[in-house]
Amino acid sequence: MFKRIYGVPASVAPLLDKAELSLFENSTEFDSAGPLLPDNITLPDTLLVGGGAIGNGIALLMTQLPVVGRVHIVDKQSYQDENHGTSILLEKSDWIGNPKAEQLAKWITQNSTLHATGDKAFISDALGSEAVKSMAIDLVLNGLDNVQARHDSQLAWPSIIVDGGINETGAAVIQHRLDNQGLACLICAFKLPMHDIRENQRQLTGLNSSVLSDQGRFLTEQDIIDADPDKQTWLREMLKEKRTICSVVSEAGLRRLGVKAEDGFRPSVPFVATAAAAMVIAEALKAFLYPGRRYSQRFTIGNLFLGPQSLANSSRHAEPSCSCVRHRTLIHSLLQRRKHKSISQTNASFGHTTEVRGRA
Ligand SMILES: [Zn+2]
Repeated sequence: MFKRIYGVPASVAPLLDKAELSLFENSTEFDSAGPLLPDNITLPDTLLVGGGAIGNGIALLMTQLPVVGRVHIVDKQSYQDENHGTSILLEKSDWIGNPKAEQLAKWITQNSTLHATGDKAFISDALGSEAVKSMAIDLVLNGLDNVQARHDSQLAWPSIIVDGGINETGAAVIQHRLDNQGLACLICAFKLPMHDIRENQRQLTGLNSSVLSDQGRFLTEQDIIDADPDKQTWLREMLKEKRTICSVVSEAGLRRLGVKAEDGFRPSVPFVATAAAAMVIAEALKAFLYPGRRYSQRFTIGNLFLGPQSLANSSRHAEPSCSCVRHRTLIHSLLQRRKHKSISQTNASFGHTTEVRGRA
């Protein structure tokens, strides 16, 4: 529909012919829709890091699943007007100006059987907070846009961490499981790819790397003087429209697709973020419900406009110098302590025949 409305040329991205994707198989070739979900799923204490576009999709999906448990949301920002285009829950609510984490927690609690809390904070600070310390976090779901926060979230060392990421047209999910430390954690996984993304953004926009590292601010004349000469005329048009760096990157991505955006059009495609959210939830559920099943550390839809031909499953090995390898023993002892805490908390709060469904 998007391609038809914005007239993406067929030579760039042809219309998809009856494409179906199984998030159970992570493939367009599959025999069935996969097994039925259980009637009830008790989540381990869960941390949702990021209440933006991907976090909105994750929250929506959580309310559509038969899940119970506790979710704590961390995000350092409040909702702003520019979130309207990308955050799916924002369309029907008056959330502007409210902290993302607290607002999303309130919405989840109202719309599901989950108990959700929120904290407006950096994840690095939140991990030491009373709220997090009172929980036994064993599942972390990320909807982030920067590497540092990804590295910080990994330091919770949960049994399962699932990270959703997007660029202008593609969505990816990366996971790390404590019981498979042969594969890269988010700290080892998110060095090279980000460099690739920055380099890609640099080529698209002509802006230099230091400018691209601070995408929330407005484009300036100095940024243009420092940019590639062949991009400067186009960048001056962006400057006239008072664009943020983030918006310039999105616009450049659409230009590559052959879409001519009108003045004032802020390119944002919520279905890219919600696709990432669906991938995050699918991977988390598979890890939780089918722990013995083979999985890829990374699943990517390189370009949603190109569909099946841009899918990729891959795995990357842990780096021997990374904390996930060097501190393996310590990380496992933390896991044992958490399991013990989780069981004693469950016994204390229910005190009767409640089954403890922690991940073995
Ligand atoms: Zn690592």
